[in-house]
Amino acid sequence: MTAKVYLIKLEDGASVEEQAAAMRKAYEVSGADKAIEERDFVAIKLHVGEKSNTTYVKPALIRELVDKVKEKQGMPFLTETSTLYKGERENAVKHILHAHRHGFGIENVGAPFIMADGLNGTSEQEVVIEAELHQSVKVAREILTTDALLVVSHPTGHVAAGLGACIKNLGMGLASRMGKMRQHSAMLPEIKQKKCKFCKKCIQWCPEGAIIEKDGCAFIVAERCIGCGECLAVCRFDAVKYDWGRESGYMQRSMAEHAYGTLQGKSGKCFFFNVMVDMTKDCDCLGAEQAKMGRDIGILASSDPVAIDKATLDLTAAAYGKTIAEISYSHHDALIQIEHAAKIGMGSMDYELITI
Ligand code: SF4
Ligand code: SF4
Repeated sequence: MTAKVYLIKLEDGASVEEQAAAMRKAYEVSGADKAIEERDFVAIKLHVGEKSNTTYVKPALIRELVDKVKEKQGMPFLTETSTLYKGERENAVKHILHAHRHGFGIENVGAPFIMADGLNGTSEQEVVIEAELHQSVKVAREILTTDALLVVSHPTGHVAAGLGACIKNLGMGLASRMGKMRQHSAMLPEIKQKKCKFCKKCIQWCPEGAIIEKDGCAFIVAERCIGCGECLAVCRFDAVKYDWGRESGYMQRSMAEHAYGTLQGKSGKCFFFNVMVDMTKDCDCLGAEQAKMGRDIGILASSDPVAIDKATLDLTAAAYGKTIAEISYSHHDALIQIEHAAKIGMGSMDYELITI
């Protein structure tokens, strides 16, 4: 089936006000307005940008969605999950405070910020999907209790997946800590002896007893490790290492399957927005200011998460000569995630682009 993808064009360097107006238009053409009903819980999945990141999608654009949902007497809230890695978004308390610092406080956006995966990334629910890699996936619990989902993604390159856009925002961004680790499960953490202070915190937290003492340091017994990421989360000395860049193909397919899991039970009530402004080589998780890779394009809207990411690649190829993924990390084939998502029935790679 051919999906519809709408492009609200923007001039390069458009102001935040102009971007917000484009977001309002994107919402209007997306079909979300017809789907959202009175008293619906409407989760707005976003990314508030790591500390020092300046290119994340700005609160004014999110405010437009909040206001639109409220016009329908829906109950919008902003949502996110804890990151696996150390940073300003590693748990609910830090994440919410950081979101506030980046302008996503309730007084600014008009809706509360509610973590979908609880205090420490462990509030989850198993969703049966019966796909190729996984029979079931672990998804942030609260996302399954919402009635509708608006997913705002900022397309960028990505060190492990080649492309970070809608599928990644869903699959990695709405998985629980265990779900995230499972997507990276071709890789397991290891402990760097030079950094380990042997405080034993990881030993205390490891649910599998996979960490032992060896030569005065902590050591992970690979055969026992289930890749839950607890050790990564609790080590205060940055001694637990993880190679995020390996096994991209597996990770992308797993990510697509987790994305599929997040959408279950909300048929016809999920809408996707890719904000193709200030696109960068690395994702907004990178705690640094980044140069944008080329001219701004506009905002895409669709009810199809596969088509919108395929359109994102195609539009960047048309604008820059290469796709955003090829420019950023050419050794990864970012089409893997899109093709796999289409294969498991999440959406269509065939789309009609309607420019507004
Ligand atoms: S928590 Fe970190 S520093 Fe402490 S024992 Fe484990 S790896 Fe070493
Ligand atoms: S990833 Fe989980 S199971 Fe593996 S060593 Fe770390 S805490 Fe233990």
